[in-house]
Formats: sequence, C-alpha cells, structure tokens
Amino acid sequence: MLTLRGRGPRRGAALSNLGIVKDGAVLVRDGRIAAAGVRSKVEAMPEAHGAEKLDVEGRVVLPGFVDSHTHLIHAASRAEEYELKIAGATYEEIARKGGGILNSVKKLRAATAADLKARAMAALREFAAYGTTTVEAKSGYGLDVTSELKILGLHQELNREQPLEIVSTFLGAHVVPAEYRHTPGGPARYVSLLVNRLIPEVAERKLAEFCDVFCDRGAFSLAQSEQVLEAGANHGLAPRLHAEQLSRTGATLLAVEMGAASCDHLEQVKAADIRALAKSKTVATLLPGCDFHLGLKQYAPARALIDAGAIVGLATDYNPGTSPTLSMPMVLSLACTQLRMTPAEAITAATINAAYSLRRDKEIGSIEVGKLADLAVFDVQDYREIPYYFGVNHCWMTVKKGEIVYRTDGKSSIC
Ligand SMILES: [Zn+2]
Repeated sequence: MLTLRGRGPRRGAALSNLGIVKDGAVLVRDGRIAAAGVRSKVEAMPEAHGAEKLDVEGRVVLPGFVDSHTHLIHAASRAEEYELKIAGATYEEIARKGGGILNSVKKLRAATAADLKARAMAALREFAAYGTTTVEAKSGYGLDVTSELKILGLHQELNREQPLEIVSTFLGAHVVPAEYRHTPGGPARYVSLLVNRLIPEVAERKLAEFCDVFCDRGAFSLAQSEQVLEAGANHGLAPRLHAEQLSRTGATLLAVEMGAASCDHLEQVKAADIRALAKSKTVATLLPGCDFHLGLKQYAPARALIDAGAIVGLATDYNPGTSPTLSMPMVLSLACTQLRMTPAEAITAATINAAYSLRRDKEIGSIEVGKLADLAVFDVQDYREIPYYFGVNHCWMTVKKGEIVYRTDGKSSIC
C-alpha cells in the first residue's frame, strides 16, 4: 500500500517518499479513511469489528489518481487532423487553416447538451477504469456566453450524477473565437466580454473554482492573460495557466507572481522560470501525453524542475486535439521514459501534488486518516510495474469516497 502520507506537496527528494506499508489495510467509514496502516494493527482496532472485509489479495493499493488538467467536455475527436500531423503539418499550421481548437469550437456549438453529457459520462467511466478518482475539467470549446455556460453547467450536473469529483475551471480564454479574430479590435473586445460579462456570471453562479488562460503564440498575450486572470481572481476564481508550451512567453513568471495554483505544459521554460517555480507554491504540471501525441521531441525539463525544488505534478491534458488519452498509467509511463522521472516521483506527482494544485490536498491525494477513501488497486506485484507496462490497463478496482466505482469483474456502481 502506497500511503503517500506526510504533509503538503512534495519537492525534490521528498517526491520519492511513497510511505509504503508492506501488508497494509484501510478502514473506511462513511466514505472517509478511519484507519490506515499495517493490516494486523488495523484489523485489531475495535472500530474494525464487524466491518465488511474486501481482500485485494496482495495487489498494489494507492490513492486514486488526481487528474488536474483535462478538457473533459468536447463534442468529437479530431482524428481527421491526426493524419495531417503525421504527414508533417504542425499544430499551428492546422490551427491557421481553421483546424485545431476552433474546429472543436464549431463542433461543440453545434452539439446538444445531452450529446455532450453522454460523451463526458462515457469518458468519466473510463477515467475511473484507469484508477482516477478526481478530474479537473476546463471549459474553452464554447467561447461564447451560451456555450461556455453550457459546458460549466454540465460540469455541475456531472458532479451530481456520477461518482467522480469534477473540479471546474473556466477557460474562456482558450483562443480568440473566429467571429472576433479578424476584425480590428476584435481580440480586445473578446477579452472585455470575458472580463466584464462571463467571469462575473461564472463566479456569481459558482460554476467554476479556477480561471485559466492559454497564454501562447496564436492564443493570448501576456498582457491579455494578466487581465483575464486578474478579473478571475477579483471574483474569487483562483488562477492557473497554460504556459510556455509552443513558445516562451513569460507566462510562468506571471503565474508565480499571481500565486497561481498551477502552471501547466512548460516545454519551453528557461532557467529563470525554473528558479521562480522552485521558490513558489505554484505547481509545475507536466503534460507529456501532449508531446507524445504531437510527436514532439522536446518534453518539459522535469529533472531540472525536480532538482531545483519545484512542486511537480502530472496530468493527462485529456482533449481531442493534442492529448486524446484519459489514462494516468500511460502518463506515468511517459513521465518515466520521456521525462526521466522515477516511478515513485511520477506517482507522487499524479496524486498528492496534483491534489495540491486543485487545493484539495487536505481531502485527497494520500491514504491518511480523515481523508476521503479514494483508492486505486492495481493488479501488479510491485508499484513500479504500473508505469513499466505501457498501453495496457492493470487497474483492478477503483474506490471513490468508499464506494467501488470500477472493478474488473463488473461489480461496481457505475460500470
Ligand atoms: Zn490544456
């Protein structure tokens, strides 16, 4: 059992400390962890008497994965662009021809809420099947008032109607939508729509906890990003940022300066950005699935970030354009082989550090008394086998707030 016990987010050498208990047990009551530790001790506790026992027969138990960066709600895949990319077109070339994010926006606006919900519901069942128990979800394929509110409303509905927790993020600043793009002053008017209309309404209706911006070439400038994040913060939406993915814009320094919860991507960071992150409480969330899918050679410098002392997290970036995966085990495999993180570091980054980036490290991310009983059980002998086997799923059971939400034999509440 990997408990990940201990305080707060992990930096440097502490990322390797999984708090392993060899023959462990967890006592769950009312969805929370009532006891966790050595099996003989937990079983001997008076509180354990009469408890229903579930034997996982020597498998590996760890905290449920916390996927801290996804674009959950979208209408369809972009498989048609996949072949163009393989043939050599870059992400930005495809975007300029009306593909990319704007392609997904067109599809989302045309989709019904019922279709979007059904697609997301199916995805959430898959997230659970890979051991994920908490999913951050961003809007950003609507980019007008009605469609953005529709997405955020779906986050709320999904939160109520299925067991995984959805943490909602407003990403109205994903790209400038087509109707504002080519008119003089259009982008500025779109930023004003976000700042003066959407953000106040999103906050007022409590549709999101975080505000995110895609700060990059072809998306939003540093000044526009700051304007949007400031407005979000003024309305109680904590900032997070898509930073330094395609180009180095200075978004990392802005994130640190604003005390952002997370700063994501970071393929193009410079030494000064790494130093700033290391001194901050902003999580450096790495998304290797994106570089893998796009066939890019340059991954984020995970080793330099860890060695400098930054709080490193990992997420899938589940989205139809650049990272169509919802498998955290696959992300762990990529973190190990491409980012040169150890299996232990990768697991910490995908659990307690990711929980910290969602401001939920007191509730989830480790197996400790008082926390929610969010657990993943893998059918392996050694935790290192979770990333070692890639492209196959060894998740055997997933538990959310004490309820079995996925089990390979099909005996669960949602599968
Ligand atoms: Zn993203």
